[in-house]
Amino acid sequence: MEARAKINLTLDVINRREDGYHNVMMIMQQVCLSDTVQLVSGSGDGPVTIECSHPQVPSGGANIACRAAQLIREHFNIRRGIEIRIDKNIPVAAGLAGGSTDAAAVIKGLNLLWELNMDMREMMNLGKVLGADVPFCIMGGTALAEGMGDILTPVRAPAELDLLLVKPDAAVSTAWAYCNLDPAAIHERPDSPMMIKALEAGDRPGIAGGLCNVFETVIPVHYPEIRDIKETMLRTGALGSVMTGSGPAVVGIYESREGAEKAAGCFAGRYRDVFVTRTFAG
Ligand code: ATP
Repeated sequence: MEARAKINLTLDVINRREDGYHNVMMIMQQVCLSDTVQLVSGSGDGPVTIECSHPQVPSGGANIACRAAQLIREHFNIRRGIEIRIDKNIPVAAGLAGGSTDAAAVIKGLNLLWELNMDMREMMNLGKVLGADVPFCIMGGTALAEGMGDILTPVRAPAELDLLLVKPDAAVSTAWAYCNLDPAAIHERPDSPMMIKALEAGDRPGIAGGLCNVFETVIPVHYPEIRDIKETMLRTGALGSVMTGSGPAVVGIYESREGAEKAAGCFAGRYRDVFVTRTFAG
């Protein structure tokens, strides 16, 4: 199964809740860049095993894909063994929901493999237990996310966007990013309703002009390469550029695939994680 990454076109943190989580308002977009998740069902009772060669990704029970399989087994009282293989292409701890999308692929894959007959809503409700981004990764496409990020409204976005993704050689923990976010330092917030209008109209300059992420008030202070990447993207023809999630990956929207590929050449020698991709409509 293809487990696709997500980017944020907008990201606003509204407030901190009493349970310690945050209410957000953001527009999430699935992209073609993906991990490949393979599931091999055992013929009888057995454990959940996982194979993933990426050095930053835990093996065993700490892997969110493994937890997704355990959750399904417990929920449906299934003891059958399952072998999960992940071919990791999505950069880790980058703001691209790499772990969440692997978990989503396991839920969707086991639903088919074990003929569990869950509809989308049921899968999303189960996925929510694992992380706030998992329901979106199950639904895919484009969506407005509210609450903890799990209250989703699909957005019709007819225009395909050519994208360049560049990740500086750093990993950002989402928890650390929230701890360091100072609401008083936020001077520019995204206008998500305006972004939805631009998406529905297929208005590329409008979409590019509306890109905004409040985490850009904190993360680039610690990782100045983020500002350099944004500036280089704009200098190489990007219509707009924004950091995704809590970073540090940066997204640029280009007029064409050729434009994105040409710009990628400017980053190739400096950064390991450079991807030309495009939005995925679901
Ligand atoms: P988000 O955008 O949802 O906040 P992210 O893209 O910033 O997520 P991930 O790539 O999901 O971050 O990784 C976050 C942490 O989860 C890493 O420290 C990683 O070791 C751990 N992890 C557990 N399982 C996985 C997995 N299957 N793939 C990637 N990371 C995983």
